[in-house]
Parts: sequence; C-alpha cells; structure tokens
Amino acid sequence: NSLSARDQQVNWHPYTQMQTAPPPIGIMRGEGAVLYAEDGREYIDAVSSWWVNIHGHAHPHIAERVSQQLKTLEHVIFAGFTHAPAVELSERLLALLPQNQAKVFYTDNGSTAVEVALKMALQYWYNQGVPRTKIIAFEGSYHGDTFGAMSVSERSIFTRPFQQYLFDVEFLPVPVPGHEEQTIAQLEKLLQQDDMAAFIFEPLVLGTAGMVMYSPEVLDKLMALCRSKGVLVIADEVMTGFGRTGKRFACDHVSQQPDLMCFSKGITGGTMALGVTTASQAIYVSFLSDDKTKALFHGHSYTANPVACAAALASLDLVEKNAFLEDLERISTSHAAFAQSLSGKSGIKQIRQTGTILAIEFEVGHTTYFHSLRDQLYNLALENGVLLRPLGNIVYVLPPYCISAAQLERVYGVIEQMRLLVGQ
Ligand code: PMP
Repeated sequence: NSLSARDQQVNWHPYTQMQTAPPPIGIMRGEGAVLYAEDGREYIDAVSSWWVNIHGHAHPHIAERVSQQLKTLEHVIFAGFTHAPAVELSERLLALLPQNQAKVFYTDNGSTAVEVALKMALQYWYNQGVPRTKIIAFEGSYHGDTFGAMSVSERSIFTRPFQQYLFDVEFLPVPVPGHEEQTIAQLEKLLQQDDMAAFIFEPLVLGTAGMVMYSPEVLDKLMALCRSKGVLVIADEVMTGFGRTGKRFACDHVSQQPDLMCFSKGITGGTMALGVTTASQAIYVSFLSDDKTKALFHGHSYTANPVACAAALASLDLVEKNAFLEDLERISTSHAAFAQSLSGKSGIKQIRQTGTILAIEFEVGHTTYFHSLRDQLYNLALENGVLLRPLGNIVYVLPPYCISAAQLERVYGVIEQMRLLVGQ
C-alpha cells in the first residue's frame, strides 16, 4: 500500500477534512528546492513548505550540525540548566535584532511564540498595577491557532467555534496604499483611551490575509504613535523573519524598535520545531521581583531543546553570510521583473511584492474567496511539478533562497498558465 493510502487510515492533517480534498502526496526525500514523491514525481517547493524551509530541503550544513548535537546533548530541561547551543543562539540572534532586544524566551512554534509575547505584554502592565488590558491588532491578521493567538487574529471560519472564549481586541484596518491616513486616524483615536496594553502586527506583509502589504513608512508611524503613549509594540516576524522581506528581518526596514518580537518557521531552516520571543530589558525587568506572583509562569518541556538550537545556529551560519543577502536580492529582482512582465495583462487584478514574497491576485469578478478556483490553481501547479499555495484567487511565491533562476522560471511559467486559465 502507498504511504498516501496508509496515511489516510491513521493521520489527521490540518485543514484537509474536506471530503473532496485529494489524498496527501507521499514525499520520500527533499533536496534543495525540490521534493521527491513516492510515485517518482518531483515538485519545486515554491512556498518553502509554508515559508519554513528558507535554505531549501536537507541542507547538508544543517544536517551535519544537527547530527553532531544529537550525539552530544539531545535534551536537558531548561529550568535550572543551560547549554551552549541556547547561549550561543541567543547571543547571535540578539546581535542581529534591533538594539533594544535584550532577552530570548524559547518555545516550540509560532503560535506559542505569540502566546508568550501576549502574556509578557499583559503581565508587564499587571506587574506594575496599571490597568492596561486591551490589545490592538490588524483586521485580517493571523498570529496562530492557540487561544490567545486566535484572539488577536481575524475572526473567521478558523475561530468561529471558539468565539465565546476569545478575548476582545481592537481591530485596525490594514494601512494598504491609499488607506494609510484612515488607519493612523483610527489608531490615534484608540490611543486616547488609557487601557491600551499592546499592538501586535505582522510587519509589512499579512500572510494569511493574502499577502496584504503596507509600507515601512506607515509602520514606522504606527509604532511611533504607540510608543509615544507607552503602548507596547509586538512584531510577529514568524513569517517575515530570516530574509522574506528582502532584509534579514522586516523590522530592519523601520527606524522604530519593537518591545517584543516573535520568531519561528525559518529560524531553523525547516529542520526542527522552535519558537522564540525576544523582549526588551524594560519588559524583562518588570518580571524581576521577590514577589512570586510577578514571575512569568510559562514553560514548555521542549523549551530551548539543544538540537533545535543547534539547527538554528547552523541556519544562522548561512543567514549571517553576505551570500544570503545576495540571494535575497537575486530573487527580489527576479520577482520584480516577472511582476513587471505581467502588469496590465488580462486576468491580473493586482500584483504585490515585498522582497522574496510575490503575490498575484487574479481577476475573478467580485469573489475573493473562490474555492473551486483555488483547487483548480493548486492542481494545475502540481500537474506542472510546482508546489504553490493559492488562497482563493491569490497565489503566492515564497521560494527557498537556494532556488535557481531556471526553477524560478518554471514557477513563473505555471503562474502564466494560471493567468490563461482564469482568463478563459
Ligand atoms: N504568526 C504568523 C505571522 C504566521 O504566519 C504563523 C503561521 N502561519 C504563526 C504566527 C503561527 O505559527 P505556527 O504555525 O508555527 O504555530
């Protein structure tokens, strides 16, 4: 029996309960930008397995570092103990982040990195006896699947069964080009209330919303407004971190510094599950007290797992190199040229690009969430040996940074075919 058939007997996959969904494809091996399936087919992973595998698959340098670590120290509880991979990773990560980031808190995925940031922000005020309890977030945002993360995300079919358990949030419209003033005005109004605790956002690009983009200038302005009122600023860089936006971090595009930052996905280059929340010294200090009720009561069994930290260190070896920035530049330039070639063509509603993130929105009348088109586009890409991730009428390309020019051309070729299909 194929992997795919056996899988269906025992596995519960995310998002795929729909009876009409095709069975999952059995993948035997990955190398660079390519996935090799059990039926002998090959797929270019043009979305880096949901923006995780930034260096492609099975990178030899990361594999080597991980296997060394496995033979040295595979795990030790991080409460009361520490180890070289965690210390070195924190030192090197902080050296790359905005200067005010002072402490690293480890978890094991993006949702928990967000959960921790929310707890830190809310308890920061609680510890000082200041009644600031409200969180501000963008409409359409996605910050994860845990309850706190769901609360600050767009309320949708993802969150509907849990609506009554989610906390109240002040949602702001995304300041997309032409609507910046509206968002700024709404934030200014909100900031007149004295119970605002923190503002959480996906910097520059809202992924799950459909790669909705806004400018660094307006982000800088929103951050400055919050900080002028003491409202904590939380940058969720789970998607944008480690090169996606053309710089190492999306916050490298702005002059304001966030109080808290969240990372996961690309941090280990797709080898091990790891989440990170970083905090400024002021936040950390607010938890230092002999009064135990002021401690951060949060910890996971796998917190700062040495193998995951070693994977992240090996990934950082690559991220720190100039060749990394050159790859970002090469992909960004290639995306821009392709976007230019598509502009004004029939079937195209809008093309958006920030660094290595390219999103093509097809013209399909008034419907934006167009299920049957989504499946058609997804299957068309697979038939052509490319893994893409359409959302309704929007297709994204977020390739691993090792993708070659020839592989990028194949991906663009599939998008051109999609355009022709939509135009029919
Ligand atoms: N924040 C953002 C911006 C994300 O894109 C995601 C995942 N798509 C998450 C948080 C949640 O991360 P994870 O899936 O690892 O829980």
